[in-house]
Amino acid sequence: MRIILLGAPFSGKGTLARNIMKDFNIVQISTGDLFRENIKNGTEVGLKAKSYMDKGELVPDAVTIEMLKERLKCDDCKNGFILDGFPRSIPQAEALKEITDIDAVIALDVPTDEIKRRCVGRRICSKCGEIYNTSSYSKPTCEKCGSPLFQRDDDNLETITLRLEVYEKTTAPLINFYADKLYVAKGSQEGPEETYKPVKNFLKGLLK
Ligand code: AMP
Repeated sequence: MRIILLGAPFSGKGTLARNIMKDFNIVQISTGDLFRENIKNGTEVGLKAKSYMDKGELVPDAVTIEMLKERLKCDDCKNGFILDGFPRSIPQAEALKEITDIDAVIALDVPTDEIKRRCVGRRICSKCGEIYNTSSYSKPTCEKCGSPLFQRDDDNLETITLRLEVYEKTTAPLINFYADKLYVAKGSQEGPEETYKPVKNFLKGLLK
């Protein structure tokens, strides 16, 4: 199954993707994670991406699309994948059409107030990638694997405002672009498991 996940920053795409990945045995591909890995390893792609990411802007399409295209050639994508953070614009969606077919698009709908509440509290496990928020989890280490948690460099108020604007202007139009494959998931107040339940049923339905 080949899935796209749409949603504003902090809407919970990463957490939802991890749930889908486990149940449907497909790989999660986050272009943000790929960029961060490239930056950590000091690659050319990392060097090109860093200044844009630091400001909260989108990395140019040429760099992003090429990186994704290469990633999709890997063996672990054969059984399907879930794209988390790509495409982020109509031109990226047009480019994706030339690379692969897509079975479903899930748009995570979370009220803006809730997104703003989440932004500065996000913490991520440095080893297994589990995502926490300081409003509900105050320990400095991961509950699942015990590794230290970290805060992303771009999770600060200056870039967050711009990232939300970029989403509204450039990424949100994809909801119409994918209207024929779209499933809208309401972010639940009761937490990620409740948000995931209807999505899981929807995806199971596609397999029948
Ligand atoms: P994310 O981890 O998805 O929040 O992405 C973090 C940052 O990586 C974004 O603010 C962008 O600077 C960059 N980025 C990730 N995915 C894309 C994309 N599809 N197109 C352009 N830039 C991206």
